[in-house]
Amino acid sequence: MAKQIALYNKIFLGFIIGLALGVTSNLLFSGSPGLAWFVTHISEPFGRLFLRLIFMIVIPLIVSSLSLGVMGLGDIRTVGRIGIKTLVFTLIVTSLSVLIGLTLVNTFRPGDGLSPEVRAQLLGTIRSKEAGAVLKPSEVDFGIQTLVNIVPDNPLAAMVNAFKGEMLGVMFFSLMLGVALALSSPERTKPLVGVLEGLYEVTMKIIDIAMKLAPYGVAALLFTLTARFGYSVLKQLAAYVVVVLVGLAFHQFVVYSFLVRYLAGMNPLTFFRRIKAVMVTAFSTSSSNATLPTTLKVAQENLGISREISSFVLTLGSTANQNGTALYEGVTVLFLAQFFGVHLGLEAQLLVVLMSILSGVGTAGVPGGSLPLIVLVLESVGVPGEGIGIILGVDRLLDMCRTTVNVTGDITAAAYIARSEGSLQAIPD
Ligand code: ASP
Repeated sequence: MAKQIALYNKIFLGFIIGLALGVTSNLLFSGSPGLAWFVTHISEPFGRLFLRLIFMIVIPLIVSSLSLGVMGLGDIRTVGRIGIKTLVFTLIVTSLSVLIGLTLVNTFRPGDGLSPEVRAQLLGTIRSKEAGAVLKPSEVDFGIQTLVNIVPDNPLAAMVNAFKGEMLGVMFFSLMLGVALALSSPERTKPLVGVLEGLYEVTMKIIDIAMKLAPYGVAALLFTLTARFGYSVLKQLAAYVVVVLVGLAFHQFVVYSFLVRYLAGMNPLTFFRRIKAVMVTAFSTSSSNATLPTTLKVAQENLGISREISSFVLTLGSTANQNGTALYEGVTVLFLAQFFGVHLGLEAQLLVVLMSILSGVGTAGVPGGSLPLIVLVLESVGVPGEGIGIILGVDRLLDMCRTTVNVTGDITAAAYIARSEGSLQAIPD
């Protein structure tokens, strides 16, 4: 884990270096042919190379993680009531978190403020380079056809055209695959599940490799952006960070306090004091999965949640119940849409809500686990996926905070379910 934290630091350093060099070059050499040549032939292609490495694994990752995730949820039925309660709690509280994020981002509009020329140039440079991806925001139409298109008549064609607006079809196919796997005899589907598990494993490995390039990729992307457009874009980025942090803080301290008090019957102050170790571990590792052992121990020893309930709810929750991640995804997609001047109407925003909830379920509980899925949501609503290059440099802090919200959500769910099942033991102070 120490290595991953070090990588985050490197990415942040890459962000600062790219930014400083880009802003300086813009101030000193703006309009010079030398700088334009360097940006077009060196820094931009390099940044693009890094992003394409991430884009490359989006399809196999979705197909494998979503189908296996849904298949896993299928097992929930066997656990009956507790499974259904976990599922309902996850869906309701995750939806709430996404709505909080979207309300904030629509109210404060952190991505607004770029001049139309800068925006047109920004969108133009991004779009013209991407050979196939020429979906213009104005072409994105969320009518009845969008709904019909969710069911692909040809899943392979949907995969081929995923970045041209057919990503939802890929998601639907993967969901159906998962549902069918859950309903089929495990004996007969074992080889297919093995293949999907293998595919998931190797895509995660490729992300690992791609992330090693991230510090340089982020430096190149930030250099390209600021050398071309100066520091005018920084104000938006800072406002975006503030909006995400305010949303997460609200969910963490207001929504959970309320749920803990009324659903789990505990004093929120006592609750937060007792789970301090969990919050600190999540914050420092940026990984719900890595925090799981601490979460289990604290839930049982400090909160008195029975072993059966805590191991079921917390294990499932560390991957599937990610309120912080879903809130962050919704804000990020809308922020980037504002940034690039892509108008997202009500239907498109509903789609973002739905996909953020689904992504919350599909995200691996590892550092930066949600990043590839953000590309997916962005592309589905016609916002350039390359936008993640802009937010990657500030992602470390946001990842630490959203992971803390994610695990607090898991433990809140476990406390509520344990109480409703009569398996919450009072632990004296
Ligand atoms: N790091 C997050 C977690 O482990 C996932 C993410 O949002 O990237 O919960």
